[in-house]
Parts: sequence; structure tokens; C-alpha cells
Amino acid sequence: MTHLHSCIADNLDRVRERIAAAAARSGRDASAVTLVAVSKYVDVDAARALLDLGCKDLGESRPQELWRKAEALVDQYVRWHFIGNLQRNKVRRTLPHLTLLHACDSLRLLDEIDRIAGETASEVKALLEVNISGDASKHGFRPAEMPSVIESLTGYKQVQVRGLMGMASLDGTIDDARREFESLRLLRDRLLNELPPEVELKELSMGMSGDFEVAIEEGATMVRVGSALFEGLEA
Ligand SMILES: *Cc1c(COP(=O)(O)O)cnc(C)c1O
Repeated sequence: MTHLHSCIADNLDRVRERIAAAAARSGRDASAVTLVAVSKYVDVDAARALLDLGCKDLGESRPQELWRKAEALVDQYVRWHFIGNLQRNKVRRTLPHLTLLHACDSLRLLDEIDRIAGETASEVKALLEVNISGDASKHGFRPAEMPSVIESLTGYKQVQVRGLMGMASLDGTIDDARREFESLRLLRDRLLNELPPEVELKELSMGMSGDFEVAIEEGATMVRVGSALFEGLEA
């Protein structure tokens, strides 16, 4: 076993243990939380190590990097998650790789996805990004506009909205993060009352290396963890 492989194996074990413990604290099974390993910091060999270790959900935040890795790993089973903000001119090349698009932040983007996916009659599973931190620099829909956004989703034929995604403020404390994650869960619960039949909001994608445990305690079904998986790996 190479250093790379054993280092990632140790980190992955620790992250999985922490996920299981946080899930247990929130009265859920660890299997209710999907670990999306964010491979954006590392190269294909490290991504391959993750796959070998049974971690099949990989996340990328830049389209070119997703395309490159997906091509290099075409011999592997991977569920690719796109966690960045996708520009409309990158939709066409990105869609064929995707298992889940985490950060849809405008109806114009969703329109374009629906149109392009319609050409091949393919389904696209997506999450809506909500700006839960209130940071002006952050992407995402404002919580107050979500009811009308949800209403607009009824027209889509290919896009299937499965849940919400949020990020805690970068300069906040862990308690701030918890409040922000809780607010996303409460928003989701409120939206459930007015949901059109074709929309599901089962998934909550929230939590990164610094805050995934509180995210799970607040109901995350997906955590996006990068740096904690690659500690000790010097580039
Ligand atoms: C990079 C990134 C992550 C992972 O961040 P870490 O703190 O390294 O775990 C999660 N979500 C998004 C949207 C990212 O861009």
C-alpha cells in the first residue's frame, strides 16, 4: 500500500466514524448520510484511492476539473457530484457525467439544464442552493424567495429537484453554522406544505470538513468533505 493510499484510508476511517457518531447523536443510522468526498484538491491517483476504498461519491466544483477526472476514471464506477456553481455555457458538457447537481442557484440555470437535458430525454437530479449565511458574496436563492422558486419548478420535464444545499458563513463560529444549518432544515420543513407533486426535498446537502458533524446533527443527508480526507498528504 502506498503512502497516499494508507493516508487516505486512515482519514476516511476517521471521517466515517465521525459521521456515524454524529448520525447516532441525531437518532439516525450512518447509512442515512452520504459522504461526498470532495476530490477538487487532489489528482486522479488520490480520487482512485478513494474509489478503491469504497467511496464512490466524488465531488468537484469546477467543470473542467470534473471533465478531466471523469475522463481519466472512465473505467471506474463513480457517482459524480457537481458542488460548484455551474455556468450555463458549461451545462452541456457537464450533464452527461452527473449524478447530482448540488448548487443550482438560479431559474435561468435550471431552464437551460431542462432544455439541454430535453434533447436527450435525460433526467437531471438537482438541489437548490439557499443562501443561509446571508453573506452577500455567497450564491444561492434567498430563503424568502424559496416558496415562489418552488412554485416555478412545476414546468420542468427533465430537472428533478431532490432537496436543498447550503453553506455556513466562512467567518462564523460553529454555533453560527449550527443555526444556519438548522434554518435550512426548518425552511425545508416549511416548504413541504406547498410542494408540487414532482418536487421532493428529501436531501439536505450541508456540512464540510469544519462543520459536518453539526450539519448531520441538524439533519444533513449529504456532507461534502474535502480537506479532512487529505490531511497529511503533502502536495
Ligand atoms: C471545497 C468545497 C467543499 C469541501 O470543503 P472542505 O472544507 O475542504 O471539506 C464542500 N462544499 C463546497 C461547495 C466546496 O466548494
